[in-house]
Amino acid sequence: MPDTPILVSACLAGIHCRYNGQVESFEPVVDLVRRGLAVPFCPEVHGGLPTPRRACEILGDKVVDADGVDRTAEFERGAEEGLRLALLMGCREAVLKARSPSCGSGVIYDGTFTSTRVEGDGFFARILKEHGIVVRSEEDLAE
Ligand code: SF4
Repeated sequence: MPDTPILVSACLAGIHCRYNGQVESFEPVVDLVRRGLAVPFCPEVHGGLPTPRRACEILGDKVVDADGVDRTAEFERGAEEGLRLALLMGCREAVLKARSPSCGSGVIYDGTFTSTRVEGDGFFARILKEHGIVVRSEEDLAE
């Protein structure tokens, strides 16, 4: 059992924050939150984006939505606020949603909105890793 809380993607805990407005909880993460072992956070909503919202993907060092609107500032703001929370709570571990342009870890989409996967981290996963926090996805947790 961890002695500091695990930071988790809020959508995995069943919170209504996914870009498409659908709720898709992941029971092992819901259970961690229920037991007080994990804290949910959504960097995109905290960065100022609504739910639902246009899908976004990372393109180079920017984030664009499916209409080509630059959402980099919102993504950076949300990632920085999530890092602030993680450091405040002393988190050493995070479980984040796979392939999201914020939360994805190791694999994301390539910015063409064609479901093409490439190596890379979402903005939130990357800033957490840069500060020594171990990031896994819910898919890692299920293995
Ligand atoms: Fe879930 Fe992360 Fe996307 Fe928020 S930004 S909906 S927490 S994957």
